[in-house]
Amino acid sequence: MLKPNLHYSELKDSYLFYNISQKVKAYLDANPDKKVLRLGIGDVSLPLCDEVIKALHEAVDDQSKKETFHGYMPECGAPFYREAVASYYKKRGVCLQSDEVFVSSGASDELGDILDLFDKSNSALVIEPAYPAYVDANVMAGRKIIHLPSGEENGFLPEPDENTDADILYICSPNNPTGAVFDRVKLQKWVDYADKTGALILFDAAYEAFIEDEDIPHSIYELEGAETCAIEICSLSKTAGFTGTRLGYTVIPKKLERNGMNLNAMWVRNRTTKTNGVSYVIQKGGAAVFSDEGQRQIKENIKKYKQNAEILMKALDELGIWYCGGKNAPYIWMKCPKGMGSWEFFDYLLHEIQVVGTPGEGFGKCGEGYFRLSSFGSLYDTEEAAKRMVKLLK
Ligand code: PLP
Repeated sequence: MLKPNLHYSELKDSYLFYNISQKVKAYLDANPDKKVLRLGIGDVSLPLCDEVIKALHEAVDDQSKKETFHGYMPECGAPFYREAVASYYKKRGVCLQSDEVFVSSGASDELGDILDLFDKSNSALVIEPAYPAYVDANVMAGRKIIHLPSGEENGFLPEPDENTDADILYICSPNNPTGAVFDRVKLQKWVDYADKTGALILFDAAYEAFIEDEDIPHSIYELEGAETCAIEICSLSKTAGFTGTRLGYTVIPKKLERNGMNLNAMWVRNRTTKTNGVSYVIQKGGAAVFSDEGQRQIKENIKKYKQNAEILMKALDELGIWYCGGKNAPYIWMKCPKGMGSWEFFDYLLHEIQVVGTPGEGFGKCGEGYFRLSSFGSLYDTEEAAKRMVKLLK
């Protein structure tokens, strides 16, 4: 008889977004005349930029003619897409060969799939509060998880110390949910730790496009020694509004080896076995993101989200409430006022001013007492929510 993967029974139910939607629904059922202002979403609200839409249309037309039609694409990515990503890195001084870049259907897929490269006996260190997929993907595989809590005392950016002992290290910068960003000095400590111990960093760069400070690295490969200890996973979801279109990329340097095995070559073997790549049309749309005009246009959209973040930060400054993030990230991580718990604060905002955010407790125990605000909502909702928060909490 088939034996299922029993590790699935070890997964903790994630009630975060379910509970939020149930609470909002219950409130609206009881108060049908009210409208809620949504600052909880992690999805984008602005459409794809014109340059991407133009490329997608052209690619669809290519598929209508025998001379330009494309069937299966190379499993690891179309050369034009891999080169476009490599040239984007080059502008930042990171020299990648295009076959060190792999296409993906998004970061979520890759964060799960990439674990195929590692033995089940490896432990995975997750800096918390964290994007929930890191823990769950490793629980499914039966790996030991080491939860590393972070807090205000280290700006939600912990450093490795003499007690750190893990094989796979998840680092997300700019971070979801805290919006905190590692600077070069702090990130170098993790790279040095991994190079010294043989651990491997899975660097989640899903929000790199939101970085505006010069001294914050967009890629882990901007740091010395990272090409021998890190895999970088990135996505066009937040960079360019591809949450529903689905496209990302993963960088595995050829210098990355463990036990005499080359991880780039292993991933080629994995992809050629387990996928038939990503569609020609979508990769064409993705390549347009990295053109000069594409970059200009996606930055216009990011600027609009940043305006929302500014509005929220200004309100919190006025209230004297501690927060991090918002500047180089689309999320603001605020301390719940008056010692409230994160679900208590959620209920308070929903009932008093109809504002919906995300309770920090949903991202790990140490998120209790904090609250995530997102800048991906509409300008109207953001302005109105900020106004109501100031009035309520002053
Ligand atoms: N990594 C982080 C930190 C995220 O916040 C998200 C999405 O919210 C993802 C990865 C997944 O992105 P994708 O849409 O590419 O699957």
